[in-house]
Amino acid sequence: MSKPPTLSPRTLAAQALGTIDKRTRAIVPPIHLATTFERDPDNLYRSGNSYGRPDNETVREAEALIGALEGASTTLVLGSGMSAAIALFLSLGPGAHVVAPNGMYWALRAWLTNEAPAFGISVDFVDSEDLRWLSAALKPGTTKLVWLETPSNPLWGVSDIEGAARAAHAAGAVLAVDSTCATPVFTRPVALGADVVMHSATKYLNGHSDVLAGALCFAQDDALCARARTIRQSHGMILHPFEAFLLIRGLRTLDVRVRAAAANAMELANRLSNHGSVSAVLYPGLPHHPGHDVARRQMQGGFGGMLSIRVRGGAEAAIATAARVRVWKRATSLGGVESLIEHRASIEGADSPCPPDLLRLSAGIEDVEDLWRDIDRALTGSA
Ligand SMILES: *Cc1c(COP(=O)(O)O)cnc(C)c1O
Repeated sequence: MSKPPTLSPRTLAAQALGTIDKRTRAIVPPIHLATTFERDPDNLYRSGNSYGRPDNETVREAEALIGALEGASTTLVLGSGMSAAIALFLSLGPGAHVVAPNGMYWALRAWLTNEAPAFGISVDFVDSEDLRWLSAALKPGTTKLVWLETPSNPLWGVSDIEGAARAAHAAGAVLAVDSTCATPVFTRPVALGADVVMHSATKYLNGHSDVLAGALCFAQDDALCARARTIRQSHGMILHPFEAFLLIRGLRTLDVRVRAAAANAMELANRLSNHGSVSAVLYPGLPHHPGHDVARRQMQGGFGGMLSIRVRGGAEAAIATAARVRVWKRATSLGGVESLIEHRASIEGADSPCPPDLLRLSAGIEDVEDLWRDIDRALTGSA
């Protein structure tokens, strides 16, 4: 596959790396559905394909594109963001110690708390936004992996990838970053020293709320990467080719979608900051946000499409606000072209650090005036 290094990520994505189908000269690649492949007469598999659980060319095309956008050497695409993250944690093997942040995707936090110990993996959660806490939690020789999520769900805390990479490496650990919400448009963790980048490709990478997928992008094609590939193969965690095709189609517009969503989020964050019914706006693009300075350093060109607001009047007022929207959709998930609003505490449960008066907003790419009028009316309480 040709990968001209001089082209910008936006160009690489729009053309899906410029791939042309060899036989038909089609601009859009075919979907490869075969689960088995013919052996050569001398008993070898020169095509590189033997069976569907390890091998799929449509999946490889998605991997090549995501890997190019992240500057990774090897990328694995899996059936969901959760399966990508779990494949990586299982790759560490029993006895591994992991340092993970307090602020992170709730379902993965629940897996690390409730399930990982059964696989011999111990986890300490720290405030990763403060490098001193992160460093203090590292156990040299025992800590195998430091996990970051930045900006992090649902308070949009920002962690310093470069600083965390230095600390992790000094302790002999690798740094993995859940970059789902930053996207490769705004942050390239590998260039900042991260060893692995994880995506819920269900979100911005696909961008149309119609595919579940995950990705692991490795800076080096090393033993950890090989282990994750083996786990994906043996557990049957590879993405289905139809979904891989849709993912490639979504990726073509990643750059314009993500920039439009981030511009809407920035505008809404500014306007909501002056709203009488809002006690706080959490968005890394706002100068008073505690992670703003780090975000300005490590996010290039925008602060993402995700923000949260705290509603005056507590949980009841927040839920009532969500009940009144018409243009925004009351739904979980994020990163699609349509704007979503969600009362997170209802989904995250009792041990979540999410305040009860918080509404999470995933800004889509609609006209910002339509989004503003709708949320303004919902907050003010007029029907
Ligand atoms: C959605 C999400 C995940 C989990 O991904 P799935 O594709 O739903 O399995 C992990 N991390 C973040 C930040 C997410 O938003």
